[in-house]
Amino acid sequence: MRPLKLALLFAAKWMGGFEVARRLTRRHLKILCYHGFAVGDEAVFRPKLFITREVFERRMAFLRRQGVRVLPLDQAVNEMYEGRLPDNSVSITIDDGFHSVAGVAAPVLSRHGFPSTVYVTSYYVKHAVPVFRLVVQYMFWKTGCRRISFVGCDWHPDGEIDLSNSSSRERLAEQCIRHGEALEDEDQRMRLCKQLGQLLDVPFQGIVEQRILHLMTPEELRGLRAHAMDVQLHTHRHRFPLDSEAGARQEIEDNRRSLAEWLPSAQFVHFCYPSGIWDSRQWQCLDAMGVKSATTCVPGLNSAATPRHALHRFLDGDDIHPLEFEAAVSGFSDLIMRRM
Ligand SMILES: [Zn+2]
Repeated sequence: MRPLKLALLFAAKWMGGFEVARRLTRRHLKILCYHGFAVGDEAVFRPKLFITREVFERRMAFLRRQGVRVLPLDQAVNEMYEGRLPDNSVSITIDDGFHSVAGVAAPVLSRHGFPSTVYVTSYYVKHAVPVFRLVVQYMFWKTGCRRISFVGCDWHPDGEIDLSNSSSRERLAEQCIRHGEALEDEDQRMRLCKQLGQLLDVPFQGIVEQRILHLMTPEELRGLRAHAMDVQLHTHRHRFPLDSEAGARQEIEDNRRSLAEWLPSAQFVHFCYPSGIWDSRQWQCLDAMGVKSATTCVPGLNSAATPRHALHRFLDGDDIHPLEFEAAVSGFSDLIMRRM
């Protein structure tokens, strides 16, 4: 399916389709979404979640060549709803606040003079440990062991498990994550990760030292301002429950309180739904919390007719072909491909 899609995109670009789409969609706001930037092998591990420096550099250079206007999200959203958005506007957003945002993305964006918005989930900034779920999955991905032997392990009965089968490997990772999430604190979870590292022969300490699955420190968050990077809301614990308005409110309150502690003069009024899970019944809560916009992971163009709490974004990552990126930025993917 993908080779066919790429062949179609290649033909469309060659025939001037991207150029036509660019003209037809010039009044729409296009919002790009990134997550982590690879420092080691993260983009091989999760190519949807991480992007290498080289690919990101090429993407930003492409935007520059295209002459798009990269606007801060706050300005872009205001101007869009007031009907005065400049033609060919793009906003860049980055979710979660991985450590590599400061080290990799910030200098690249700065060099191009591109502003951006970083939605930060504050729990892991506060605790300064690797993101638990991700680090467990990473260790199961990274291991070269074909079998794992459990002896006296408190989350799995004694015995041997074959790791060469990807579904049994995933099941085991999920079992470990469930056990870890039920533990009381990060110290216990980190002890579990260390044990897992020994079982899988993947040194956990190396992952900690490299900080590949850490979020930024408060100091690094403060440094983003110098790169025209605006920090905004992404909940405290990366969850925004659909079934509990009180729980959802708490997540925004805790997120705001933590961010305000680290960035006292900033205003936190833009939001990104964690894991892209959202429902229009949550909009009232967002309004009541003074949230001006909320971005989803639903691809598409944005206009004054787009609900402000359901903004569309194009998710870029290492698995996205340059033609797919060009098609998204030109508006071609939304204009044509989604109608086919
Ligand atoms: Zn997220």
